Amino acid sequence: MTVTLDVFPAARYRDVVEDRDFPTVREYQARTGRAALGCYPVYGPFELGYAAGLLPVGLFGGGNRIEIQTADSRFQSFICSVVKSTMELGFQDKLGPFEALMFESICDPARNLASIMSRNFPKQKVTYVHLPQNMTSAAAPDYLTSEYRRVLAELETVTGAHVTDDDLRASLATYNALRSALRALYAFRAERPQDLLTGELYTLTRLATIMDPAEVTPILREALDAARARDGRVKDRIRVVLAGAFCEQPPLELIESIEESGCYIVDDDFLLGWRLFRRDVPIDDDPCRALALAYLNDSLHASTKHDLRAPRAKALIESARSHDADAVICLIAKFCEPGLFDYALYRKALEVESIPHLYVEFEEKMWLYERIRTEVETFVESMLFR
Ligand code: SF4
Repeated sequence: MTVTLDVFPAARYRDVVEDRDFPTVREYQARTGRAALGCYPVYGPFELGYAAGLLPVGLFGGGNRIEIQTADSRFQSFICSVVKSTMELGFQDKLGPFEALMFESICDPARNLASIMSRNFPKQKVTYVHLPQNMTSAAAPDYLTSEYRRVLAELETVTGAHVTDDDLRASLATYNALRSALRALYAFRAERPQDLLTGELYTLTRLATIMDPAEVTPILREALDAARARDGRVKDRIRVVLAGAFCEQPPLELIESIEESGCYIVDDDFLLGWRLFRRDVPIDDDPCRALALAYLNDSLHASTKHDLRAPRAKALIESARSHDADAVICLIAKFCEPGLFDYALYRKALEVESIPHLYVEFEEKMWLYERIRTEVETFVESMLFR
C-alpha cells in the first residue's frame, strides 16, 4: 500500500480509497489473518461481522476504475451501474479478500444482486439482511433483533467464532467511536467548509469503510485536529446541501468539481450507512436489540428506509435550514429508483419552501465532468448575481 506522508490526512489516502484491489484490506489481512466481509451499500449491521472476527469493508462497485465487460450480460440495461460493477469486481477477481458478502433489502436490484452473486461466486458466503419495511410496527424491534441474531449465526459459520454479548458490546463501542469521529468531522465541515473541503471529508469517510474501525478512528481525529489548525479564507461561494448519492457513489473528481464550481457543500448523504446513527448505540443493553433500536428510532433519513414518522422531504428541508444552506443539489444516480422516487417529493417540498435546487444525474463510471460543472456554475452564478 503506497501512501503519501506529511500532508493533510485525506490527501495521503486519495488513491487508496479508489483502488479496487483493496490494498488496505490485503495489508490488514496479511498482518492479522482476519478475513473480510464485503458490505454492499446502503446500511448493514457491520458490528455483527466485526464481532465475528471479520473486517467489514464497503463494497461500492467499481466506480470509474473498472470497465464492465461481463456483468452487463447478467442485468437489464435499465439497472444502476453499482449493481453491475459490483458483480464485475467478482468477474475480474477483485473479491479475493472477501470471505463473505452482505446485502440488504434496500431495493429490487440489490435484492436480485445478492442471489446472482451467490450463484456466480459460490466461494463467498452471501448473507442477506431483511431490514423491516414497516419501521413503526410494534413488532419491528423484536423482528429486527431476531433477524440480527440470525445474521450473526450465519457470520459465525464463516469464521467459526462463538460470539458472546460482550464481544458484541465491544464491537458496538468500536463503531460508536468511529461514528462519533465522523459526526465531529461532518459538524466541523458544516461550520467551517473552507477548512475541510468535501473532497477531503469524502476521502476520510471512504477510508473508514476500508479499514479496521479501531485503526481508522485515530486517523479521523488527526484529520480533525489538522483541519482545526487551518485558517482558510472564506470564498464567495453558495452553501449547498447535496442529496441523492446515498448508495452508488459519484467519482471523487465529480464531488471536487461541484465544489470548485462555486459551492461549499455543508451536508450530504455520501456513504450514509457508515455514519447512519445520530448518537452512540447504548452498550449496556441486549446488543442486538440496541443495534435494532438504533436503526429503527435513531438513524438518519435515507431513501431506502421508509419511515412514516419522518418524511424524507421534510428531513431535507430541515437539513437545508439547519445548515443555513442557500440551495440544494439533488445528485442522483442514473436508474436509482429510490433516489428518483424521492426526487419527486424533494422537488415539490423545495418549491413550496422557495429553496432553489438543481437536479444533476451522475453515473459512477463518469470520466468527463464539464457538462455538470457548467450546469453548477450557471446555477451558482444565478444565485450570486440575482
Ligand atoms: S443505486 Fe439505487 S437502485 Fe441501485 S442498488 Fe443502490 S439504491 Fe438500489
